[in-house]
Amino acid sequence: MQYDDPSSWRYDHEVDGIVKAGKIDGIYISMHGTMGVEGMRDTEGDLLEAIRSRIGNDIPIGISHDLHANLTKKRMRHATFLVGYKTNPHRDHFETGYHSGKILVNTVLGKVNPVMEWNKMRLLKGGGMNVDFLSPMRKIFGWMEDMEDDDQEVLCLSNFMVHIFIDDPELGWSTVAVTDGNREKARKLADELADKNWAVRDVKHPEGSTAEEAVAIAKDKSFLRNFGTVVFCDASDAVGAGSPGGNTWILKALLEKGPELVSYVPLRDGVAARKAYKKDIGEDITLTVGGRLDPVYNRPLKYSGTVIKKLDIKRLGKVAIVKHKGIHLVLTELADSYPKPSDFTELGLGLWKADVTVVKNLFPFRYNYIVYNRKTVNVITPGTSNVDVFELKLDSIPRPIYPLDKIDSWRL
Ligand SMILES: [Zn+2]
Repeated sequence: MQYDDPSSWRYDHEVDGIVKAGKIDGIYISMHGTMGVEGMRDTEGDLLEAIRSRIGNDIPIGISHDLHANLTKKRMRHATFLVGYKTNPHRDHFETGYHSGKILVNTVLGKVNPVMEWNKMRLLKGGGMNVDFLSPMRKIFGWMEDMEDDDQEVLCLSNFMVHIFIDDPELGWSTVAVTDGNREKARKLADELADKNWAVRDVKHPEGSTAEEAVAIAKDKSFLRNFGTVVFCDASDAVGAGSPGGNTWILKALLEKGPELVSYVPLRDGVAARKAYKKDIGEDITLTVGGRLDPVYNRPLKYSGTVIKKLDIKRLGKVAIVKHKGIHLVLTELADSYPKPSDFTELGLGLWKADVTVVKNLFPFRYNYIVYNRKTVNVITPGTSNVDVFELKLDSIPRPIYPLDKIDSWRL
């Protein structure tokens, strides 16, 4: 990928608005922290830099980030302090905003003097070991909260477990400590947090199955399928993690190994969805599906079936369900992760009738589908959000980095 020189981009409109607001005591910006824009590398860093250049260095800027943020030197140079989510799956959006606001207001009032230290770690670790309430991260997040609660000087600790599939020269986990004026303590805590992450780097991910293995598992669960559905977690095409939603590997395996299973297979492909939408209900169609938005990991696939349903809804745009034997291919213009059963029932697809339901969601479906779900299969295929870092095509990331390289320290 080619990146233009970010300095050639301007945020005059946004920054003018801030300047025109009159006297500013402090600024808080809620940012994801891994925003991607074609042609720009550190979009959020550029924005911060633009604001800083107009308001000067004396006005505090507090920012908050998603726990999967990829920290950059530029952002850390311009932010006065940073607060990250402490939950994964994320449940503390409100608390993070409140925490940020509290530090900012106290800073403006002169009650605290935030100083921030941070580390970029030579560590990539994604997938199922990063849940905040499960081992091994539970202890680490518990320690962070204890430090914040017990030590008045500790304003905030954050642990950024960045997604592994962002091909960026600054990719890596980060730790951040913000204290009230005590730089030495901030440095010590940021290091200690990094050491704790490093100590659990070898913890294995939950096992996944190939698409073919997943189909075999579903076939094997014929008794359980009488009372619900097998749910395939399409982990390598997780839409919430930034994948396009156009994985063809599961569809291919179902066509080849299990077309008789009643399966609900969402696939985002605007071209194919619109083509099928133009057909009448009951008409047959042959399409090439997938491999459009992501031609790196996914291959286009030939698919023939009958158009059985058409919808045009805000969430998905034009939708056409094209049926081949038991396969219900849900072609959509827009991507969705299908975190809740109503995402299918809204399309007229009742979950009691399905043998296999494919979701593009990593966590919330695990409790949302409990009534219908008789077996979860984590499916690992080639894909943008593949949890196996060895299978990703990462050309720009810093090396050496664990686990791609054998190194004995997280330090740069
Ligand atoms: Zn996140």
